[in-house]
Amino acid sequence: MIPFIDSFGRQHTYLRVSVTDACNMRCTYCDPFRTGRFTNDRLLSMEEILRLVRLFVTRHGITKLRMTGGEPMVRKDILSLFHGIAELKTLYPLSVGMTTNGTLLCDHLPFLRALGLDALNISIDSLDRDLFRSITGMDALPQVLETFRRAQELVFPSVKANVVIMRGVNDHEIPAFVRFAAEYSLTVRFIEYMPLAQNRWETGRFLDYRSMKRIAEEEGTLIPMAYQPHSVSKDYRIAGSSGMVSFISSVSEHFCGGCNRLRLTADGRLRTCLFALPEMETDLRALLRSDHGSNEAVADAVRKALRNKWEKHPDPEILAATQSNVMRAIGG
Ligand code: SAM
Ligand code: SF4
Repeated sequence: MIPFIDSFGRQHTYLRVSVTDACNMRCTYCDPFRTGRFTNDRLLSMEEILRLVRLFVTRHGITKLRMTGGEPMVRKDILSLFHGIAELKTLYPLSVGMTTNGTLLCDHLPFLRALGLDALNISIDSLDRDLFRSITGMDALPQVLETFRRAQELVFPSVKANVVIMRGVNDHEIPAFVRFAAEYSLTVRFIEYMPLAQNRWETGRFLDYRSMKRIAEEEGTLIPMAYQPHSVSKDYRIAGSSGMVSFISSVSEHFCGGCNRLRLTADGRLRTCLFALPEMETDLRALLRSDHGSNEAVADAVRKALRNKWEKHPDPEILAATQSNVMRAIGG
């Protein structure tokens, strides 16, 4: 096993795969202008994704996978990917997660659970039906709540709600989300609104995690949990319940020191950081489709990318002014 280690000694054990940049929603903070879509031949095929996943897991020590997008469930052949991963799971220690908007998932949940899906992160930015529709462009709150209910029934090892907080938009719902965490016995993750290409990020809409936490504390006492290695979140138990809240402070307080993440974009580019610049991406799809796309060549390309990984991402104002990739292609 040859681990993927960068110039700062960080071992990369977590691969996030954006399986498609297509999405049935249009969240205001993600890609409101719908700046183009990949044509199918620019997407990695499921065979190509599986080949990379197998290589990374069997030879390079990846122990954690997450499928994301776009909306992973819009990809019709997604279940074949989970079949392949289930086989790998019988031989290697592997935690498998999915980040989803929860609208196309409910009927597939029992099957995915049986195939070894461990962790579900479901996005839900408002508990108010009208506000939910205005943020996401889809009147889908009842469906998403039903998905949470079903996931609880099937006893997934981990179910989390992802909430991107925008000042003046949904920050008044922080207390309601604390109650939601307690009621559903799950973790609500309050995520700082991040600046990415074409997502209209502005400082006035940004609320830092400390301010979110102060608002959350008006609803209940938050008891800090021990820091988990590589964690991107600050975790708290809600006193008197089995619910938890977490804060993801990507913007106000970076957590780059413990970064163990590699990302594969929907069109097969390797990113060593969520905020990486386009010129820092490595085109693995082109390599796979070339005559010299051996496993060794792919591993070399990953190592080369890791040698150029930065120690930490730049400040938010710089990121906001930078031409990055759109969030739904990167996968969050
Ligand atoms: N469609 C799926 C979903 O919405 O969960 C998966 C893809 S989405 C890009 C992954 C995560 O990124 C979601 O939880 C979403 O809320 C988050 N996200 C997207 N744009 C963001 C932004 N500008 N700031 C913070 N989080 C963002
Ligand atoms: Fe789609 Fe997820 Fe982006 Fe919303 S956050 S537009 S659901 S990819």
